[in-house]
Amino acid sequence: MLHFVRVDSDRENMTIGALNAIKNSNIIIGCEKNLIMIEDITKGKIIPEETINDKISLIELGISMALDNEVVLIDYEDPETFGLANLFFQNLGKYDEINFKIYPSTTSINYDASLLGAPLTDFVAIDLSEDLITTSEIKKKVECGLKSNFVIVIYKGKKYFSLIKEILLNFKKEDLWIGLVSNGKHDIVKIENITENSFNSNTILIIGNRMTYVKDDRLITPKSMIITPFLHPLTKEFYTNFINNESPDGPNKTCEYYPCHSMVNPQCDFCYCPFYPCGDGSTGGKWIKNKNVWDCVDCTWIHEKYVIDFIKPKIKEIIESVDDLKNKKKDLLKIRRECILNS
Ligand code: SF4
Repeated sequence: MLHFVRVDSDRENMTIGALNAIKNSNIIIGCEKNLIMIEDITKGKIIPEETINDKISLIELGISMALDNEVVLIDYEDPETFGLANLFFQNLGKYDEINFKIYPSTTSINYDASLLGAPLTDFVAIDLSEDLITTSEIKKKVECGLKSNFVIVIYKGKKYFSLIKEILLNFKKEDLWIGLVSNGKHDIVKIENITENSFNSNTILIIGNRMTYVKDDRLITPKSMIITPFLHPLTKEFYTNFINNESPDGPNKTCEYYPCHSMVNPQCDFCYCPFYPCGDGSTGGKWIKNKNVWDCVDCTWIHEKYVIDFIKPKIKEIIESVDDLKNKKKDLLKIRRECILNS
């Protein structure tokens, strides 16, 4: 039987099934740098000495030996995504029935993302190590991911570094956060700070979307979180006026706190944010440590004109009473998300 197992620098993240496959096998096939990582559990097993550099020959060797043996084929890439299992299926038609098992692994993408934080909400992954990929295909795929607000994982992108940088800058995505991971080391930067030297052949690039933010050196693309608000008397007063069309339109220069943020021409239409507390740091809010209080001091997003123009008519349709700030919080947060992703 032929067993497909991934072994890379993240050996501690191998599954129990994959470890058992190695332990219960009598033949191990793989390249030297990966075999070294598991030499403590492969003592006494047959390890063919042929130097095989192409993947198809590696698979063929595995198949030829697996007729009478338990053979583990060690893949340094994720077998079920970019690695050997895919090539195996493409060549399967050449052989009689073969018994095999593919062990799902912690993919390099999951592993690298975990070093960065939690960036992979709604993501696409593009493998640029593909031999036959063309620049037009790369451009189409990356642009499509950007337009659709996916987090984009670029696998092995060194060769196409200039093209990727150009696509990102053309899309005016210079403000997006980008995580770089290579051989267990990671960095979080903006696109203009990435140079060809930031890459080696193993680097994985994780390009955040409009909602991705950095907090305490972690890259985070938030998942939906609905926190029921406590309605402060001033909030109740503001939304009573809002419902009666008596709240401010645009800047409120008569307010004694105006301008309460250091921004040009802040809009005061939602001086009391209808989304409070959003619990989402992508616009600048944060928790005050040990107080369970959401702090909006650094969020100027709700005072931007394009935001007001987008959300105001929609919120008017939703809020019929002040209690709707609580009762319809999910619908309100959908408007917030739509606005951020459309900007
Ligand atoms: S002001 Fe900003 S951070 Fe605060 S709740 Fe509203 S959207 Fe969220």
